[in-house]
Amino acid sequence: MNKGSATLRLLSGVGKKGPACFLLEAGGRRIVLDLGEGPPPGLLPPVSGIGRVDALILSHGHRDHVGGLSLLPEIGDPPVYATNIVARDLPKTIAAQPLPVGGTADVLGIAVATGRNGHAPGGVWLHFGIAGGLLYTGDYSTESALYAYDPPAKPAATALIDCSYADYQKPLAECWRNLAQFVERGPLLLPVPANGRGPEIALELMRHGLEDVYVDDAMQKALHRLGDGDAISLRPSVGDDIRRLAAIVKPIDGARGVMLAASADGTSGATARLLPQFENSPEVTILFTGYVNPTTPAERLTKSGRAQTVRWNVHPLLSDTVALVRAIEAKTVIPAFCDRAKLPALAAALAPTGVTMDETVPL
Ligand SMILES: [Zn+2]
Repeated sequence: MNKGSATLRLLSGVGKKGPACFLLEAGGRRIVLDLGEGPPPGLLPPVSGIGRVDALILSHGHRDHVGGLSLLPEIGDPPVYATNIVARDLPKTIAAQPLPVGGTADVLGIAVATGRNGHAPGGVWLHFGIAGGLLYTGDYSTESALYAYDPPAKPAATALIDCSYADYQKPLAECWRNLAQFVERGPLLLPVPANGRGPEIALELMRHGLEDVYVDDAMQKALHRLGDGDAISLRPSVGDDIRRLAAIVKPIDGARGVMLAASADGTSGATARLLPQFENSPEVTILFTGYVNPTTPAERLTKSGRAQTVRWNVHPLLSDTVALVRAIEAKTVIPAFCDRAKLPALAAALAPTGVTMDETVPL
C-alpha cells in the first residue's frame, strides 16, 4: 500500500454477529484490532489471506475479542498490545506490550489514546491519530453502575462503533425491573461472564438488599480482583461496595438464593456442570441475560422453554450511539456487531453522518 494512504478492512464482526477482527493499514503499518473467537463457538476470523501484520491491539478480554490468538502464527506473530489487566489472562506465551487504561501510547509511530469502556475490567476504547482520527470502541457501555466509562471526546473522522443493540433503547433500570421479578420466585441461576456483567448484577442485587447471593469460583475471583488491582476500571466510590459484596457472597452449594456462575453460555466453567444438574429441577429458574450463543446449552435451554432470557445492558443504546457520533464529529460510522438489516435504521438515526458496512473503508 502507499505510504500515507489509510484503509480499514472489516475482516469479521460487521454485518452479522461474529468474532471481532479488523485490519487497519495506515502509513505503511498494518495493525489488527482484536482477534476474537465466536459467536458461535469455534468461529474464527478469516485472517489466512491477510499476510504479515505489524501489531495486534486488544480492546478487552472477552472471548469474541481475544479468543482467536491461536491464529497469531498466520499473521506473522506480531507484538500484542493490551492493558495489563487484559494481558494477565492471555496465554503465558504472549509477552504483551502495555497499553494504558486511560492515556496515550505510541504504537509503531501512531499516537493511540485510550479510555475506559464501561464494559469489562481493563477494557478500553482506542483512538488512533491518523487520517482525521479513527475511533474503535471495542465493546462499550455508558450505563454500568460498576465499570467506569470515559466518553471519547477527540474528533474522529471515522468511527468503528459497538452497535450490538443497534436501535434498541431500553435503559438499564428497565432490565433491573424485569430481573427483579425472577429474584422473588425461588432459586435462580444466572449464567454470566465473570469479567463482565456478572459482578454488575451481583452489585445491583446487594444494593437492593439481597443477602442470599451465591457465586462460583470465577465470580469470587473477579469480585476480589475488582476490589483490589482492577479497581482502576471501577466508577468512583464503588470500591467499598465491591469489597463488601466480595465478603458477603457464598459459594454455590445446592439450589438456593440467586446463583451467579460462569460461563454465560454453559459451555465451560461451573455452568457446564450446574445447568445439567438444575435443568431437571423445576424449582430452579434459569435466566440468561446476554446474547444467546448459537449451538450452546444457552440456546438449547432457551429454545426448549426451560430457560428464560432478560437482557442486562452491557452495550450502548441508540441514544448513546448518536451522542458519541456527534461528540467526536464523525463523518463516517461503521456499526459493528449487529446485523446488516439494522443498517437503514442506524443510517436514519445518524444522518447526515455516513454509515457503511462495506468490507473496505478508506480513511
Ligand atoms: Zn465484551
